[in-house]
Amino acid sequence: GDSVPVLSEGGPTLIIGSTGFIGCFVAEACLDSGLPTYLLVRPSQNASSKAATIKILQDKGAIVIHGCTEDQKLMEKILKEYKIEVVISTVGGNGILDQLILVNAIKAVGTVKRFLPSEFGHDIDRADPVEPGLALYNEKRRVRRAVEEAGIPYTYICCNSIAAWPYHDNIHPADLLPPLDEFLIYGDGTVKAYFVAGSDIGKFTLKAMNDVRTLNKTVHFRPPSNLFSMNELASLWEKKIGRTLPRLIMTEDDLLTAAKELPIPESIVASFTHDIFIKGCQISYSLDKPFDVEVCSLYPETPFQSVEHCFNEVVKKILDAT
Ligand code: NDP
Repeated sequence: GDSVPVLSEGGPTLIIGSTGFIGCFVAEACLDSGLPTYLLVRPSQNASSKAATIKILQDKGAIVIHGCTEDQKLMEKILKEYKIEVVISTVGGNGILDQLILVNAIKAVGTVKRFLPSEFGHDIDRADPVEPGLALYNEKRRVRRAVEEAGIPYTYICCNSIAAWPYHDNIHPADLLPPLDEFLIYGDGTVKAYFVAGSDIGKFTLKAMNDVRTLNKTVHFRPPSNLFSMNELASLWEKKIGRTLPRLIMTEDDLLTAAKELPIPESIVASFTHDIFIKGCQISYSLDKPFDVEVCSLYPETPFQSVEHCFNEVVKKILDAT
C-alpha cells in the first residue's frame, strides 16, 4: 500500500456516535486498522438496533465507555484516563452544537493529537445551501471556528455523497434500494456529484486521521471514477436491473418547495439535494487553498470502490431476499 507518514502508531481513538449511520462505518474501519478503539455510548432509549450495532463492534474488539458529550468534566476524565490521542465525532444533526462542550474538554486536557468534528459531507465554508440546510451548516461552522480558536489539531473530512440513489427526502439513502418503478431526476440530470461507498468513507477517514499531511487541513474526497450525474447513475442502475424505468423531472422549484414544506430532517436533505444537483456545490470550486488536500493524491495506490460495485451488492441483496 501507500507509505503514509503517520502521526502516531496505534494511538487510542475515541469515536463518538458509533451507533449512527456514518459512525458505524468509521468504527468498523478503526477496528479494521487495529487501533485501540473506544466508543462513547449514551445511556439512551436502548433501541435494539443500536444495541446490536454496539455488540458487533464489541465483538471486533471495541471498548464501550458510557457517557455523553454534554458532560465536560466526564469527557475530560475519559480523555485522560484512556490516554485518547484521536477523537472522531460523527454525531448527527441534533448533536452538532453539543460538540462545543467536547471542544472545551479537548482543549482543557491538551493531549489529543487530532480531532475530527462531525462533518462528513460538503465543505461547509464554501457551500451555501438554502434553508434549512444553511442553519445546520452555520452550526458546523461554529464548531470549526471553536476548534480553530482553541488551537486543537484537526482534520475536516468532506467525503461528499454516500454511494446510493440520492433520494431528496431521505437522510440515509444507503439504507434504501434505488428506484424499481420510476426515477425522479433533479433538474436536467447533468450536474455531477461524487458517490463514495460508506466503507470507503470509513477507510479513508482512518488513513487521513493519523497522517501528518492532513493536520489542520480539509480533506476532500474526489475520486474521478465515482463522479456521476443523475442521468448516468440512472443508466447504470437500469443496466444492473436489466430494464429501463420512466424518468420524471423534479425541477429546481420543486426542490425549493420541498426544502420549505417538508418537515426536518427531510427538508434539510431537500436543500442539500438542491445544492448538489442544481447548483453543483461539490464541483463548483477547485482545491486551490493551502488548507485543501485531496484524498486520491494522498493515497494514489488505494482504489475506491466503484458505484457499479455498490449497485452489484444491492442487486445481490434483492436476489437473496427473493
Ligand atoms: P446519526 O443520527 O445516524 O447518528 C448520530 C450518532 O451520534 C448516534 O450514535 C448518537 O447516539 C450519537 N450522538 C448524538 N449526539 C450525541 C452526544 N451529545 N453525545 C454522544 N453521542 C451523541 O448521524 P448521521 O450518521 O446521520 O450523521 C453524522 C454526520 O454525517 C453528520 O455531520 C451528518 O451531517 C453527516 N452525514 C453525511 C451523509 C453523506 O451522505 N455524506 C449522510 C448522512 C449524514 P445515540 O445512539 O445515543 O442517539
